Amino acid sequence: MVKGYPMSLQQVFDHLLTAYGRQHWWPGETPFEVMVGAILTQNTAWGNVEKAIANLQENDVLAAEVIAGCGHDRLAAWLKPSGYFNIKATRLQNFCRWYLAQGGFKALSQRPTDELRHGLLSVNGVGPETADDILLYAFERPVFVIDAYTRRLFSRLGLVDEKLGYETLRSIFETALPTDVALFNEYHALIVRHAKHACRKRPLCATCSLATDCLTAG
Ligand code: SF4
Repeated sequence: MVKGYPMSLQQVFDHLLTAYGRQHWWPGETPFEVMVGAILTQNTAWGNVEKAIANLQENDVLAAEVIAGCGHDRLAAWLKPSGYFNIKATRLQNFCRWYLAQGGFKALSQRPTDELRHGLLSVNGVGPETADDILLYAFERPVFVIDAYTRRLFSRLGLVDEKLGYETLRSIFETALPTDVALFNEYHALIVRHAKHACRKRPLCATCSLATDCLTAG
């Protein structure tokens, strides 16, 4: 029986926070490291990204100037653990060249969010999810990140249509929730945690704290 359906997006957040506690995202020591991680995490598990970032750190090349100017093949070799390393080397260099041309973090931090988002999306290889990861976790802008886990969880809960476009979904979350960077930061991290713990491809509904309120609980 679906007891509390439909839940509000705030109620889902409250449940997840109670179940898992704070997630302390994004793993990264500097905004630039967060940006690099956001690009490298495309189509791979986070553990692989950590290995690639560790390679950059060990070789003392985790800086936009160095990445932008180094040979593509050398960079690709350091990025190998993250998968699709040739494509990611190109994307990372595209991003770093754009980042430097715009004046770096300090100059970009002065830009309004919409303008900054537009600029990020102009970089070849940066799509909406990557741009929003960067906006939220590196620039601390109140932008809600939509990913495959978000789509899966909230469509199963019966709160959104899985087929909705990225911008429509983002607007649903941003309209329904208070405009709060800390909330958006924590919410996305909790969605990822829940999607890995319970709402997997084959969901483990028996272990799910949202089961009594979920439209498709098995
Ligand atoms: S009850 Fe099952 S389908 Fe619903 S959110 Fe939990 S794990 Fe996902």
